[in-house]
Amino acid sequence: MLAPALAVCSPLCLAQELTQEPPRLAADRHTDVHIAEAIKQVSADYIRQTIEKLVTFQTRSTISAQDEESIKAGKGIGAAREWIQAEFERYSKDCGGCLEVKTDTYTEQPSERIPKPTEITNVYAVLRGSDAQQAKRIVLVTGHYDSRNSDILNGIDPAPGANDDGSGTAVSLECARVLSKVPSKVKFPAKFPATIIFLTVAGEEQGLNGSKHFAQMAKQQGWKIEAVLNNDIVGGDRSPQQDASVVRVFSEGLPAAASEAEIRRIRSLGGESDSPSRELARYIADVGRSYDAGVKPLLIFHLDRFLRGGDHYSFNQQGFAAVRFTEFREDFNHQHQNVRKDDANGVEYGDLPKFVDFDYVAHVARLNAATLASVASAPAPPTSVKMQMKNLENDTTLTWEPSAGAAAYEVVWRSTNAADWEYVQMVSSGTRATLKVSKDNVIFGVRAVDAAGHRSLPVVPEPER
Ligand SMILES: [Zn+2]
Repeated sequence: MLAPALAVCSPLCLAQELTQEPPRLAADRHTDVHIAEAIKQVSADYIRQTIEKLVTFQTRSTISAQDEESIKAGKGIGAAREWIQAEFERYSKDCGGCLEVKTDTYTEQPSERIPKPTEITNVYAVLRGSDAQQAKRIVLVTGHYDSRNSDILNGIDPAPGANDDGSGTAVSLECARVLSKVPSKVKFPAKFPATIIFLTVAGEEQGLNGSKHFAQMAKQQGWKIEAVLNNDIVGGDRSPQQDASVVRVFSEGLPAAASEAEIRRIRSLGGESDSPSRELARYIADVGRSYDAGVKPLLIFHLDRFLRGGDHYSFNQQGFAAVRFTEFREDFNHQHQNVRKDDANGVEYGDLPKFVDFDYVAHVARLNAATLASVASAPAPPTSVKMQMKNLENDTTLTWEPSAGAAAYEVVWRSTNAADWEYVQMVSSGTRATLKVSKDNVIFGVRAVDAAGHRSLPVVPEPER
């Protein structure tokens, strides 16, 4: 494996001179058998049932009915919301009450896409971390349960939203079902030391309203969210040009929440491709190599598709690392369209379950579940990660503060023009490492590793004089 790298003798062999343990290739797999076992429980059949159920509410438009009578009749967004909540509660019952099921309700004031004051409810379940210190760390998965048809102001006619975003809602629910059932190795209620939140939001189609409210609440309350996985249109539409072997993972470059001063700093240090969201995307690439999810993440270094948005951006705006999962190729006949058939050309329009590939959604759910479990099992990322700049020298010395739960650390690095981490150097003791690699030629990161080999998200060092 190392031969090609040694042949060109770049950072890899140079670093070997200085350290007892040779660096490894960053692309090596590291799999936790428990996580591998857990994600096998993800079921395409459950996902199909969830999506088909969501479609029965006829429309889940944010401005559709949510009065008692409509809820009883099983029509409109109110009924959908009640069902999702009951579903989370059912999973919780199955794990001895391990999930706290909650709602975040507020009134959205009228705007272009909200004709009158409208109640918006986000529904979520919390799998509290088992470690008192680490439980404050949160990793979150989300999808939007609202839907729309051709007319964004139509809250009455059918808007099945099987793919957009019944698929993402199903991913969040399925991750909750499967990860809440992981047998407790530590102590009731959760196996994972950090907290996992399974979220479904409304108001996405009207303007990311629900996620915006939720992310603001998280920021105001000081939640330590390390990673947000937004799944929106992950149904693997069955059109012939689809590539079901990959799922796109979008991540922002310059952080939306960065101040002018921070942007200037990023520009001067060349950190344009190292936002926390992009490190999260690389982490997902690593998870994709380590686990057989059935689908591979295809990292797209864009915030989103051109001139289109999603709920991850609401979290980005509040300074959280957040990415968007979306199928490889969208079929625009099957989203944001009234259900109809054009007899002239035979084209069927509408976001119906028959266009969804449930196996594909299950694969995406496995990749999400493996990522959630990996982050929630890992130690906290190292803090105060510094690159020593006191003397001009070609070696690189990195220092950091210890992380809760860490047994060791790893320095990762890549060429400045490489998309993903290339090399890893284990640091088995202490919180300092000197590498015979010039800081000017590469980008470094440091991550914490626990005794079982779970890796934290990496942190890029700040130069310190
Ligand atoms: Zn959507």
